[in-house]
Amino acid sequence: MKLPANSDVPLLLVDVDGVISLFGFDLDSRPEGGFVNVEGIHHYISRAAGAHLRALANDFEMVWCTGWEEKANEYLPHALSLPGPFPFLTFSAPAPGSTPRHWKLDAIDAYAGPDRPVAWIDDDHEGCHEWAGERPGPTLLVTALPPLGITAAHVEELLRWAAALPKRAAG
Ligand SMILES: [Mg+2]
Repeated sequence: MKLPANSDVPLLLVDVDGVISLFGFDLDSRPEGGFVNVEGIHHYISRAAGAHLRALANDFEMVWCTGWEEKANEYLPHALSLPGPFPFLTFSAPAPGSTPRHWKLDAIDAYAGPDRPVAWIDDDHEGCHEWAGERPGPTLLVTALPPLGITAAHVEELLRWAAALPKRAAG
C-alpha cells in the first residue's frame, strides 16, 4: 500500500551494503547467509535480515536508501521474502558550490520533506547526527556494523521508537 506523503507512518530508510549485504566478517564466524550475484558482483546476503525487516513492515513504510537504487527491488524482496517492491531513493551529484555533506542527505530531504518521521538504518552515518538533530520531524539514526548488519536489537529499538511517536490529530 502506498501511503500519502504526509502520513504519520514513519519512513524506514534501508541501506543495503553493511545492513543486508554483509562484509568484513571473519570467515570462521560468518553469519548465516548466502551469495547473490548482482551484475557480476557477489554479495553476501544476511539470512536474518529478511525476518528482521519483515518484523518492521507493519510499523514503517520502507524505502530503499542505497547505491543499489532500483536494483534493490530486482534482487532483495525475492532473496529475503520481503513484501516489496519498495520505493527507492536515487542519488545525484551535489550541486557545485554546495556545502559537502553525506551523499544521501539531499535525496532523503527531497523524499521525506522536513516533518515526516524518519528512521534510517545504515552502516555509514558520518556527519549525519547534526542533520538528524536539526530536522524538525522525529529522526532516528540506527547504525549497523557491516559484519553483522541489521540485528534483533536494532528491530527492538526501531519498534520502540515508532511506538513512542506522537500521533497527529486526524484532519
Ligand atoms: Mg552501506
